[in-house]
Amino acid sequence: MGMRLHMLLCMATRRTSRTAARARTSPKQAPASALRALGRTTRQRSALLAIIARESRPLSPYELHALALRAIPSISQSTIYRNLRALEEAGEIHAVSIPGQAPRYELAAVAAHHHHHFHCHGCDRVYDLEGCPGGLRGLLPHGFTLEEHTIVLKGKCQMCAS
Ligand SMILES: [Zn+2]
Ligand SMILES: [Zn+2]
Repeated sequence: MGMRLHMLLCMATRRTSRTAARARTSPKQAPASALRALGRTTRQRSALLAIIARESRPLSPYELHALALRAIPSISQSTIYRNLRALEEAGEIHAVSIPGQAPRYELAAVAAHHHHHFHCHGCDRVYDLEGCPGGLRGLLPHGFTLEEHTIVLKGKCQMCAS
């Protein structure tokens, strides 16, 4: 029993020293810089989530870039795209697709409540609409079943109409 434990400990020690040797030979993989990069990514993603929450309407990657530049002056459009993809994969945000338009992004918590959207031709902004007219099954031919629907109203927002 005591012997076996000793052997296991020796094996563990050997493995640890091998790992340490490998780490020393690749200075680019230094944990400090990896942690710094991770910290930066986390800060960028929480900044983007905060902007989407604050504006309380779905935002395009271009709108997000313009707004993010105020908080993070050096952030690039490609960094915005990369973070949006990661946030979407993590289930934090949802893409709102409008035909012929760049996708807009809204918080998953907002998307969880069924609602629709309004696209303004004047300022190109997309706004959330409360509720749903419903009764859409009535539009279907006999034998068809409805699985989902999206409704996008188009026109001019209050600012653009006045
Ligand atoms: Zn408008
Ligand atoms: Zn609906």
